[in-house]
Amino acid sequence: MAPNDRRCVSCRRVAPKSAFLRIVRLHPTHTVQLDQGMGRSAYLCPTAACLEAAQKRDRLSRMLKVKVPASIYEALWQRVQSPPAPVASTPARGDTPPIASPASLGSQAASSPAAKPGTSPACEQSAPQSRSPK
Ligand SMILES: [Zn+2]
Repeated sequence: MAPNDRRCVSCRRVAPKSAFLRIVRLHPTHTVQLDQGMGRSAYLCPTAACLEAAQKRDRLSRMLKVKVPASIYEALWQRVQSPPAPVASTPARGDTPPIASPASLGSQAASSPAAKPGTSPACEQSAPQSRSPK
């Protein structure tokens, strides 16, 4: 085991510590935080499986000999669910409203007989009348 190798508290996998999430119990306040700080440390694979196992058995609390607050687990879940990004301040929230998908629209149009070209007198005639004049 190399000097920089650490062990995951869940699956016992050994890897360089840069490959793990680090949870630190600060000295001497015993505050628990992530990534940085002097104190007792626990390491966890950045995977949902290892985080879930650690949370179920409260392995981090045991390893650090202090109760790990829920906020720490929440922060860890955010790390696991989002891919590791060097720049952490990039909100990747795309606007994708849950409207009908193009696939369902296409199937509706294909199955509708009124969609045939040249056979739509009712629609074209009623459309101008329903418009409000300016
Ligand atoms: Zn692991």
